[in-house]
Amino acid sequence: MTDYIHTPVVQSLIALQEITWFNPKKARFDDVQSTLPLQMSDMLDASDRLTRFAPYLAQVFPDTAATNGIIESELIAVPALQLALSDVMNLDIPGRLWMKCDNQLPIAGSIKARGGIYEVLLHAENLALAKGFLKTSDDYRLFDSASFRELFSKHQIIVGSTGNLGLSIGIMSAKLGFDVTVHMSSDAREWKKVLLRSKGVNVVEHTADYGVAVAQGRQEAMQQDTAYFIDDEDSKSLFLGYSVAALRLQKQLIEQGVVVDENHPLFVYLPCGVGGAPGGITFGLKQVFGDHVHCFFAEPTHSPCMVLGMETGLHNAISVQELGIDNQTCADGLAVGRPSAFVGPMMDTLLSGVYTVSDDNLYRHLAILVDTENMPVEPSGAAGVSGVLRMLTAGRSYLSDHQLDDKLPQATHIMWATGGDMVPQEERKNYYQKGQALLR
Ligand SMILES: *Cc1c(COP(=O)(O)O)cnc(C)c1O
Repeated sequence: MTDYIHTPVVQSLIALQEITWFNPKKARFDDVQSTLPLQMSDMLDASDRLTRFAPYLAQVFPDTAATNGIIESELIAVPALQLALSDVMNLDIPGRLWMKCDNQLPIAGSIKARGGIYEVLLHAENLALAKGFLKTSDDYRLFDSASFRELFSKHQIIVGSTGNLGLSIGIMSAKLGFDVTVHMSSDAREWKKVLLRSKGVNVVEHTADYGVAVAQGRQEAMQQDTAYFIDDEDSKSLFLGYSVAALRLQKQLIEQGVVVDENHPLFVYLPCGVGGAPGGITFGLKQVFGDHVHCFFAEPTHSPCMVLGMETGLHNAISVQELGIDNQTCADGLAVGRPSAFVGPMMDTLLSGVYTVSDDNLYRHLAILVDTENMPVEPSGAAGVSGVLRMLTAGRSYLSDHQLDDKLPQATHIMWATGGDMVPQEERKNYYQKGQALLR
């Protein structure tokens, strides 16, 4: 066995312990910004594309009409949760805790409504432009027409997923008229498959995990030149779709009167699977807030692929399974054994750290979130809850290294809730009861 396996961090991961890891390679943003493979202009381009499609989305998805076709979630203060967490740990939590409600995002009920839908729209736009069906100055409600659906019906979209990405890609692609196939990993919930089939999506079920489902999808796509594969393990488009959240969050913070600057630090806690969603948002937030934002990823103790890749420097050249970690977790949206190829390397200089959470704690935090804020999320969506507690305990030296101790009373902490709104009532009740039982 090679050396990396003997580091204390990797040993703790193998032992399935909850760890809090601080990234030794994090750099000053000004020093690395120009070296990044993507820039602010890429994010603005993605944002403009979503604006062009907004009239179409408002027309075909009534739940986006209220926001004029912009797929966005609320940012809410969660004082009752903050108090409850403070009680659980017997720890004062200075500053203010907020929740970013991506569990309630329209169309797909999870954070995947950002990146997944964006990449489908980008592909549809490219096809329509190439076939001479469209100019970018047109009213995009054109996409809601028989001629466009007829065009897209001759094109396939293929994706591999643990569930939520499949939902967002499947629903959006089917609406546009694409012939869409979702390869679902073994951990995908039954209701997600049923829902997709009801929308005319082809669902292929696999008995293996996410990595295999993605590989199968990729292979199928290579056999047809009209097929487009959405590659969750390596997609810059997905990533940029997610990044737009940072521009929207900036606006929401201003609207709420929340200041982010040298003396008012922002901490953001993002659940991480393959890394595209939390990575895209971190990239965006760094572009917007630079060194004033501190981004942390949260992973299940059984699927700590990003921290393993970053700690060893091997990124997608190592999987958790190679260390005997089983990648079995109740957090199906995070059940990923190998991180994205390009997100980890980009996070090397941007990310503040990663912490891992046990399944039992995901259930506990999910129940606390219901009790305090009446906010049902799925287990993956609860991984951000413990971020503020980690920061104030294991994060003490990070805080002093960054001269943040005396700024904590003016700090803003955001737990990014990433999924849950489409979970059926019965399943939701089971999640809650599990959490309740563990809290007793
Ligand atoms: C997919 C997902 C994530 C993480 O996104 P990645 O791009 O896989 O890192 C987090 N929460 C939920 C609910 C998800 O479905």
